[in-house]
Amino acid sequence: MNEKLIVNGLSFKPFLRIDEIRKQVARVAEEIRRDYEGKNPIFLCVLNGAFIFAADLYRELGMNETQIHFVKYSSYEGVSSTGKVKQLIGLNVDIEGQDVVIIEDIVDTGLTAVKMIEDLKAKNPASIRFATLLLKEESSKTGYVPDYIAFSIPPYFVIGYGLDLDGKARNLPEIYINCDEE
Ligand code: 5GP
Repeated sequence: MNEKLIVNGLSFKPFLRIDEIRKQVARVAEEIRRDYEGKNPIFLCVLNGAFIFAADLYRELGMNETQIHFVKYSSYEGVSSTGKVKQLIGLNVDIEGQDVVIIEDIVDTGLTAVKMIEDLKAKNPASIRFATLLLKEESSKTGYVPDYIAFSIPPYFVIGYGLDLDGKARNLPEIYINCDEE
């Protein structure tokens, strides 16, 4: 793993290694498989940030009869939440009466998660659960706790493994954390 990185003038250091990520993705997949035994939930990947986590998790799940679809929400500019959650791409599949599992990259304030669940509930699914790669417990403004959490992390900005800084750094195979405040 590379050492320090500079992206858009901010410094980042290695935080979560690929073998740790794989291990936690496998654990979350196991929990989901166990909870949905005999069922075929619809998985919803939240673009853009969750695309790599969702790809790894969905393949790890090996639930061949299920479907994955994509929605796009946005609330961040640079390194902080604007507090306003915008839906950029909506759902083009009927989820009425279906079990739904949302796959998100990170829950920070919790505003995106709460808004998304509210939007989806209006479509009358049988159930909704939420899987996140990362949870910043200390940043929560909503008290929302996802059903499946790969890692709980401190309230610092992270990039890599799909997560960006102004569109950059999604390609990094591992997760880096901002270290300008150290
Ligand atoms: P929330 O609505 O929970 O505050 O924020 C959720 C969204 O904010 C995530 O889907 C993600 O796009 C963005 N976000 C929150 N924290 C971080 C972070 O540390 N790094 C990156 N790259 N995005 C973040």
